[in-house]
Amino acid sequence: MAVPMTQELVPREVPPVETKYRRIQTPIPVPESIPILRQLRRFEPRSMSGQPPVVWDRAEDCQVFDAWGNAWLDWSSGVLVTGAGHNHPKIAKAMLGQIEYGLVHNYCFPSQLRARLTQTLAELAPEGLGKVFLLTTGAEAVECAVKLARTEGRRLGGDEKITIVTFDGAFHGRTLGAQMAGGIPALKDWIVNLDPAMVQVPFPDGFRGGPDTSFDVFERSLQQQGVAPDRVAGVMTETYQGGNASFAPAEYMQKLRAWCDEHRAVLIFDEVQAGFGRTGKYWGFEHYGVVPDLICCGKGVTSGMPLSAVIGRSELMDLYPPGSMTSTHTGNPVCVAASLANLEVIAEEDLVDNAREMGEILQPELRRIGGQYPGHVGAVHGKGLVAAVHMVKPGGSEPDAELAGRIVLRCVEKGLLMFAPVGYAGASIKISPPLTMTEELLREGIGVLDEAMKEVIG
Ligand code: PMP
Repeated sequence: MAVPMTQELVPREVPPVETKYRRIQTPIPVPESIPILRQLRRFEPRSMSGQPPVVWDRAEDCQVFDAWGNAWLDWSSGVLVTGAGHNHPKIAKAMLGQIEYGLVHNYCFPSQLRARLTQTLAELAPEGLGKVFLLTTGAEAVECAVKLARTEGRRLGGDEKITIVTFDGAFHGRTLGAQMAGGIPALKDWIVNLDPAMVQVPFPDGFRGGPDTSFDVFERSLQQQGVAPDRVAGVMTETYQGGNASFAPAEYMQKLRAWCDEHRAVLIFDEVQAGFGRTGKYWGFEHYGVVPDLICCGKGVTSGMPLSAVIGRSELMDLYPPGSMTSTHTGNPVCVAASLANLEVIAEEDLVDNAREMGEILQPELRRIGGQYPGHVGAVHGKGLVAAVHMVKPGGSEPDAELAGRIVLRCVEKGLLMFAPVGYAGASIKISPPLTMTEELLREGIGVLDEAMKEVIG
């Protein structure tokens, strides 16, 4: 969703900002950056122009810099990627070391690095999820998990057992299968002949999914759609719904786990956003006290490089014979080196505990700020270092994307960087700083958001 007022590319005078972490000393967008923004608009598809007009030049830990002297406190982590902070020296050194050592590609040929990373990820995953397939993007991990679940369904119940159940409002990526699994109708209009064996049910967030968060809704919804439980091959959910930072009740997920066991359906958690500490636990599903059969990972697995993974039970991961489930860039050595270093940083710097502790400050503060605007803030959701402030039109729950966009842009003008609003109708202000956030930095950011909301809403 584009931030509406960035379409014009007209620099706006903004008050200067100068703190230890933020410096804004030019109009926004920076006049000198306009030719670059225009060049991008000319040579990239329009779909790429949706972000606030900050031309990234360099980034370090929790800060992003442009080339004209401005510095932002980063509350985006790119898009929940740089959990260990931007360009962490240990991760950078590992990547440079790998390049200098002399191996930057090896396809599916064996490599010691790939052996190390797959073992490390399997050991980080809950017991029983012992195999790891490395890919490049989150969408690919999702596609692979859906393929494995459907393959297993057919093995167990023939061609009738291929239904994949996902959730309204879900986002799993932008490839064909991932979009069909997604629960945002506008994103899949283009497909037209949607697969009838991919169905969605309401997500139990207690807000957009309706007030009833009981597991009965799941069963009732399948029944209404004419889906017999024994025809379900798999159920896939984001651990929390990314765009809205919305979690399900633990009891719901526990019943879902039991339902999948009863009906021999594969349970897939898409942890592309939630994994590696983001929610204050290593894996987001730990909040629910359940273990899935397959985990999709991406983003925070490297803190910067394109690498994703499916981690799962051997019976599922071994469904395909040698040579038939592969990928050109699986376990790219530079990405793998980055990931191994990143996983060490997460452990050495206690980033999971830090995310939990910082979340104990962030979450109540956001709810306090949101509470000041009951007519405009429909809900504040999140755990650990991920949150979303859901903006609504006064007096109801109709989403207000325009207001959310103005608040984000005002934050950016004040040196607090966030990506354009996401979630339900693009009206959620998403907060996802690096997990290296300190209390001082976090409180500074909270203060900026508070100020921006006061100025924009009044
Ligand atoms: N799943 C989830 C939960 C995501 O948040 C995303 C990306 N935002 C994806 C899948 C797709 O990942 P990618 O853009 O790397 O394909």
